[in-house]
Amino acid sequence: MRHGHGGSAGHCEDEWLKPGHGIGRGNLVAPPGSRRLRKALDADPEKGHSLSEDETNDRCTISTNADPQARRAGGAVSGRLVILGSKGGPAIRPGGPSPTSSLIEIGGRRIVIDCGLGVARGLVEAGLALSELDLILITHLHSDHVLELGPLLHTAWTAGLKRPVRVFGPVGTKAVWDGFCASLSYDIALRIDDEGRPDIRALVTVAEFGEGVLLEEGGLTIEALRVEHPPVTECYALRLTQDGRVIVFSSDTAYFPPLAEFARDADILVHEAMHPDGVDRLVERTGNGARLKAHLLASHTMAADAGRIARDAGVAHLVLHHLVPADDPAIAEIHWTEQVRTSWDGALTIGRDGLDLPLPGSKHQRKTA
Ligand SMILES: [Zn+2]
Ligand SMILES: [Zn+2]
Repeated sequence: MRHGHGGSAGHCEDEWLKPGHGIGRGNLVAPPGSRRLRKALDADPEKGHSLSEDETNDRCTISTNADPQARRAGGAVSGRLVILGSKGGPAIRPGGPSPTSSLIEIGGRRIVIDCGLGVARGLVEAGLALSELDLILITHLHSDHVLELGPLLHTAWTAGLKRPVRVFGPVGTKAVWDGFCASLSYDIALRIDDEGRPDIRALVTVAEFGEGVLLEEGGLTIEALRVEHPPVTECYALRLTQDGRVIVFSSDTAYFPPLAEFARDADILVHEAMHPDGVDRLVERTGNGARLKAHLLASHTMAADAGRIARDAGVAHLVLHHLVPADDPAIAEIHWTEQVRTSWDGALTIGRDGLDLPLPGSKHQRKTA
């Protein structure tokens, strides 16, 4: 029971579409009953799915909205963070945001963090040639973070990928990739024979990681911290450091104070967030309100608590990500901001699909500026 991805339809949904026990956990960390919660979810996989039917469309966000090519040119100097998909949970709506994925361009590297549905489209819209894929990091195996891993790599391959791509993910990631390749074996064999392409299975390497340093190479260091995302036990925040610049991703997590230490002095903290009123509205529209709400509280972080982590970590800039709800018109940017401002008065950006933020200059650039 390490991952909670047993393969039934119920388990493939993101956790906030499922019911749970333990209402009133609030900000507590490390619920003692997370295994029991898992069992409760297993026993009752049907409820909660109706939630996805109740979500509606657009929401407001801050945006730099710059031209991707212009950004790209700038990215060669200092790099950029692009939020490709800003939504928590796997559902999509007409004109609405996509599930979670992000791009970091830094030090000449192109690093994709999480591969929710829409990641390939998001990368192309951000101006990246898919054949330039380099590194892919998966924080955990909920479908809103990994569903499009295989399709992204395959699409990159058909777009001319010839260089090796490395995928880092928690235990189980290799099985996801191997399963995808098995499912596409007919097409893969055909394209190798018919089009003379290299074998995609030889181009892609999957490394499974736990806590600690997972990559140290060419001035880039990537570290992982296990966070609190019951019932998933293999879920990791990531800290990327390159030439003195630090970007931290919370991944999906309940309010988790150790994350503040992990994110210490980061230039950017990308933290997941729920809005309390939005959660209430979601819960109202479902038939299993109390249990669903309890589950959300146990596994995710309220926006004000994300602000608390940013404050305690002393980061320079907080970006809210994996928004729940992401597409309720009644929960606009100002409402997210109000929540965060109860705990955090520093730089703040509310994520949205396509948000394109320049990274601060490198240590060298900052010295010579
Ligand atoms: Zn998620
Ligand atoms: Zn998750």
